Amino acid sequence: VPETPDAVLDGLDPEQREVAQALHGPVCVLAGAGTGKTRAITHRIAYGVRSGILQPATVLAVTFTNRAAGEMRGRLRQLGATGVQARTFHSAALRQLQYFWPKAVGGELPRLLERKVQLVAEAAVRCQLRLDRNELRDVTSEIEWAKVTQTVPADYPAAVAKTQRDVPRDPAELSQIYSMYEQLKRDRSVIDFEDVLLLTVGILQDRHDIADHVRTQYQHFVVDEYQDVSPLQQRLLDLWVGDRDNLCVVGDASQTIYSFTGATPDHLLNFRTRHPGATVVKLVRDYRSTPQVVRLANGLLSQAHGKAADHRLELVSQRERGPEPVYAEYPDEPTEAEGTARRVRDLIAAGVPAGEIAVLYRVNSQSEVYEQALADAGVPYQLRGAERFFERAEVREAGTALRGAARAGGNDSLLDGAEGLPSQVRAVLSTKGWTGRPPSGSGAVRDRWESLAALVRLAEDFEAAKPGATLSDLVRELDERAAAQHAPTVQGVTLASLHSAKGLEWDAVFLVGLNEGMMPIAYAKTDEQVEEERRLMYVGITRARVHLSLSWALSRSPGGRASRRPTRFLNGLRPGSGAAGPRSGAAGSGGIDRGPGRAAAADRTPAVERKHRGPARCRVCGRTLTDAGEMKLMRCEECPSDMDEALYGRLLDWRA
Ligand code: ATP
Ligand code: MG
Repeated sequence: VPETPDAVLDGLDPEQREVAQALHGPVCVLAGAGTGKTRAITHRIAYGVRSGILQPATVLAVTFTNRAAGEMRGRLRQLGATGVQARTFHSAALRQLQYFWPKAVGGELPRLLERKVQLVAEAAVRCQLRLDRNELRDVTSEIEWAKVTQTVPADYPAAVAKTQRDVPRDPAELSQIYSMYEQLKRDRSVIDFEDVLLLTVGILQDRHDIADHVRTQYQHFVVDEYQDVSPLQQRLLDLWVGDRDNLCVVGDASQTIYSFTGATPDHLLNFRTRHPGATVVKLVRDYRSTPQVVRLANGLLSQAHGKAADHRLELVSQRERGPEPVYAEYPDEPTEAEGTARRVRDLIAAGVPAGEIAVLYRVNSQSEVYEQALADAGVPYQLRGAERFFERAEVREAGTALRGAARAGGNDSLLDGAEGLPSQVRAVLSTKGWTGRPPSGSGAVRDRWESLAALVRLAEDFEAAKPGATLSDLVRELDERAAAQHAPTVQGVTLASLHSAKGLEWDAVFLVGLNEGMMPIAYAKTDEQVEEERRLMYVGITRARVHLSLSWALSRSPGGRASRRPTRFLNGLRPGSGAAGPRSGAAGSGGIDRGPGRAAAADRTPAVERKHRGPARCRVCGRTLTDAGEMKLMRCEECPSDMDEALYGRLLDWRA
């Protein structure tokens, strides 16, 4: 912990210091990836609190994911500033909504809707419209888009015409379904995720007394990743801030990757117009990545077009030179995964900690083959979103079951015959499908088993330390530990989608699946959509501190026709792709490592013969999946995707 408030400013460069010391009035930081935006705002809060200028309880820091919020709280603690609220928009809004609902509306806050797609399906049927599964999913996304852009059903067709969106059905029909869906929610007294923000906005708009209450509580606002704020989040922010204008935002227009949810960098780019007196700071020193990584990132952005690209800032690396990026071409996806796993293992052998390595892909369904390859190579890994023990879905579910059993106490036939505490825990966990025998292999199923086994061990240790402890005592202990986040952390290689890697960094990053169709993704058709894909790749590249690998596969499965091409985004940037660009890559074969090649690929075990690792389960709720579409997604259709981890983090809280 820095000894004095001024010591909090050590370790900031002059521009970052300017941000940290501008504690009043509007502040806007426009800067590229890795320039220390998140660091600057974290130190700003810590400096304000430590110097007594900011009351910690009056500061609300808004981040994009629960993980980012947790990291910020951790950093603030290290800097000697506690008591600041660091939350996602959803989590902050839900808290306020729960608190004010009885006063503003009466009764308890309605339940959060769990099976959204199902309700949309019902709405469609009532409108006498037949939709297949995929259409339903798309219609659901359209409704979400309409809500976050604050478009009511009646205005939806006009909004489609104005934005020239690709829509899954006739806009008039979509408007009908949307309207019916809203009606059904009201009838059943449930709310969806978007409602959490909409209702909070509604209450703050309507009830000046409540708005005043919130504004007395929070007086200083800080928003990270501001380029991805949706119109609805902006509206909420405006209501929170009121006319006090103590708002500090940081963002990078080149990292706008959530347009499909209605996010737009306009709020960031127009900040100065909306807040004429704003302190505007630009940061260009990149503290995260080596000159080689930064050069590739700059090269990629130099080919970008559109509004965000007009505001790009050339990054200047502050680090020593490191290895050149490695480009690797593979004959097929499983070979790409195996090659990646081998390189990961080599890096670990060379001393890079597993926790400092990430494999990033475009869509979650790509993870499976990497999970398998890493497991086969004996490399521990974790999927993004499953990091903290007590936040894991299975652990929370188990917690709920244990709490239920503790409440039922001696009346619960489940506990009949179970005498010591650990055997009671085993009995309760068996209702969740847990057995004492571990499933073979590793992967998500094994992880789930390990988590529950860790709970049993915890019960054993607890009983040894406190003989005679009851299930209720254990539940209390678990709650305390969860609150203190005393999580047994497993340090493994991170597997994550590019979207969920935003804001994070690793020593080594493997960007995989960089072939046309995946990057840009096949459904990106308009120029704007393609530009967003390029930004997504920019986000991926800039996650790497030192080692960066970029790979693609020429066909999907072994023996398949080599019909794929490497992503157009690397044209002119990777060796052997014509045009001038950074010369880099592994030695030999023109700078491109062609992987083990076709002959070797033919020797490998076909995918179908690979060992299975038990039933596929939803990675959000753990339910066994049988539907092929869901198995591909690796989650239930109605479980939210990790595109907004903030959302399902709250969903699980809610269920618990
Ligand atoms: P992104 O756009 O990806 O969110 P960012 O601009 O928020 O990136 P940070 O994550 O705050 O960047 O910082 C990137 C890395 O650089 C971090 O490891 C951070 O600790 C380090 N860093 C930032 N500023 C400095 C500095 N002045 N001196 C040393 N290291 C720094
Ligand atoms: Mg950041």
